[in-house]
Amino acid sequence: MDTEFGLIEWIRRRAAAREGVPLGIGDDCAALRLAGEALVTTDMLMDGRHFRLGEATPDQVGYKALAVNLSDIAAMAGRPVAAFVAVALPKDNAGAIARGLWEGMRPLAERFGVALAGGDTNAWDGPLVICITVVGEATARGAVRRSGAKPGDALLVTGPLGGSLLGRHLRPRPRVAEALAIHEAVDVHAMIDISDGLAADLGHVLEESGGLGAVIDEGAIPVHEDAVAIARDDGRPPVEHALHDGEDFELLLAVAPDDADRLLAGTPPGCEALRRIGVVSDRPGLRLRSADGAERVIEPRGFDHLAC
Ligand SMILES: [Mg+2]
Repeated sequence: MDTEFGLIEWIRRRAAAREGVPLGIGDDCAALRLAGEALVTTDMLMDGRHFRLGEATPDQVGYKALAVNLSDIAAMAGRPVAAFVAVALPKDNAGAIARGLWEGMRPLAERFGVALAGGDTNAWDGPLVICITVVGEATARGAVRRSGAKPGDALLVTGPLGGSLLGRHLRPRPRVAEALAIHEAVDVHAMIDISDGLAADLGHVLEESGGLGAVIDEGAIPVHEDAVAIARDDGRPPVEHALHDGEDFELLLAVAPDDADRLLAGTPPGCEALRRIGVVSDRPGLRLRSADGAERVIEPRGFDHLAC
């Protein structure tokens, strides 16, 4: 199978059919039939930049590369339909790496009902690069954007944050079902998946929503046990990790306060970890409120892929 055509055949034989994808791997293009507005997202992972082959296995890389795209579809409250996988494989071990990538992607694709519907395969003297594009569809309720937050909105997150570098960053759980259930239950004004860190991604939402601000209750932020573990080593407070580490891939959403009450009282399926962490304000800037009511300004900084 270690030729491009052999590899494509190997994948094609294993690719499951999916409704809405009348034509998958094997022709010049795939054909999709979407029920709603098309949502398209793409993400590239490079060896030496986003992972190190050797520390991460090819199947972990395949899993993550697909999962981060599914997380972006979740952030719009969409349903994923088809994935397109372009890879540059290191010549030395191309076949084994390609099979590993596939083994990592397949269980996710099956769980989320995504067809692996095409892509491009190359081998070269350079390191592994994998770029996945996922096409999804918005539901009849429409796609949720970053830009709809309003002053007074409650801010919620779908799960605990911080410390993902202990290993969770390699196996993010895309919150697709959670997003659909929440969007079905209430009108979600704005949503984003937390990849750069809570503070930075909240900053993106506030910026896109017309330069708003927010007050976060320090004690309300769900801090992951991994953040506590890292804090024990580096001496920084766990909540700092929850605010800035990133790669959590939980969702951050803004909803009307009544809708937040409704969501927290009658938790949609799978959303038991949903927490209210703060409120959107028309006063620009991000403020952290401690238990005694004191507020301090925090920077919407997180992980910037172009800065380092
Ligand atoms: Mg995103």
